[in-house]
Amino acid sequence: MAEQLIISVSGMRGIVGGNLTDSVATDYGRAFGTFLKESCTEKKSKLSVSIGRDSRPSGKQLLSAVAEGLCSVGIDVIDLGIVTTPSVGIMLRELGCAGGVVITASHNPGQYNGIKLLLGNGVAPPSDAAKQIRQYFFDKNFDLVDSSGCGKITSSEQTDITHINKVLAIIDKGTIAAKKFKVILDSVNGAGGQITKKLLAELGCEVFAINDEPTGLFAHAPEPISENLKGLCEIVKTEGADIGFAQDPDADRLAIVDENGSYIGEEYSLALSAKYIFSKKTGKAATNLSTSRMIDDVAEKAGSRVIRAAVGEANVASAMFVHDCIIGGEGNGGVIDLRVGPIRDSLVGIALVLQLMAETEKTISQLVDEIGGYYMSKDKFTADTSQAQQIFNSAKKAFADAKLDTTDGCRFDFDDGWLHLRASNTEPVIRIIVEAKDQPTAKIYVDTVLRIRREVLG
Ligand code: MG
Repeated sequence: MAEQLIISVSGMRGIVGGNLTDSVATDYGRAFGTFLKESCTEKKSKLSVSIGRDSRPSGKQLLSAVAEGLCSVGIDVIDLGIVTTPSVGIMLRELGCAGGVVITASHNPGQYNGIKLLLGNGVAPPSDAAKQIRQYFFDKNFDLVDSSGCGKITSSEQTDITHINKVLAIIDKGTIAAKKFKVILDSVNGAGGQITKKLLAELGCEVFAINDEPTGLFAHAPEPISENLKGLCEIVKTEGADIGFAQDPDADRLAIVDENGSYIGEEYSLALSAKYIFSKKTGKAATNLSTSRMIDDVAEKAGSRVIRAAVGEANVASAMFVHDCIIGGEGNGGVIDLRVGPIRDSLVGIALVLQLMAETEKTISQLVDEIGGYYMSKDKFTADTSQAQQIFNSAKKAFADAKLDTTDGCRFDFDDGWLHLRASNTEPVIRIIVEAKDQPTAKIYVDTVLRIRREVLG
């Protein structure tokens, strides 16, 4: 069976030349443009949308197709070219656009591409808006205009400088530059290489960049997880670098390799960034329910606390706005600082971690040791909606003593760990994320879920 086109809150993802064609992309652009025209209360003569892409070879063609769709409903388009996802969020607000589009399949393999939508505030549409756009797409309900009303396409070359200046504004460049850090950067031939090299040069770092050309021909599997970053780890070690940074193709995720060449895990990107922010400011943090407790530990030491939101960048960003959070993000290496933008941003993470190292005069491995750590495991198994509900109900009984949060599936908090069960939005699976003080403790919780799964699924 051909793989289905996935349409979720954050946009659309499919296989290029398979289910994701130019005509699908154009229709999606028309649907998004129609939605923006209807929902924009401000009566401007013409609305505009900023559009950028990661480096995938199919990106240019899909960008043109979406732009064509937007123009056909009378929306002006500003083409940003190959840029990071957070850069699009920054530029659309800078340019006063009604929305933004990023052509990216994020960390997914090269055969995929996607169309990510952002509203005028720089955040993905909330679920009711996403549902509306989806409906317009399937019904082909487009508010097409005649030739005199068509949108125009222009371009902007200001993205990198605008984004870098926003990041520089939240740190002290001089303190970092004085350290002359040696940094190895692996941008997996995505959109992050060029802009991140410029940022690191501004920060006075000696940079050794690998896979920095934005060819979209990924030098290794693009998700910035341990098994894909062996090359980076090796170079950090042989070059005697202070730190290694890895990005995913659209550079919203950041993974870190310490000075010994050890991959420390994406969960630390947010915890380390938070450690720096809390050393300077007073306020709350926000993250999703599947993220490590390390950020709670960091916040607690600072006399603060963490707001937990449903999984999804837009949910975390919205919690950050509501609670006026000074830092936030997701455990998959996504760091958000609202002063730069409400989108996960690897450049923000890089700047904050280097600032922490510079100010404390500690190595990255020493800082990691200070935060401590837990054993964490992530898994998933197939279950339809009704089976998922039965599993949730049984789990609630089995973990009756735990503190329960049902914002997004079931999250059970124990004294020595937590377990999060959530149904995927895009496929019939339950994700199971567990974190505990050690592996045997985590196994006890997982084994309970596996027993329930056997009882329900047979
Ligand atoms: Mg990404």
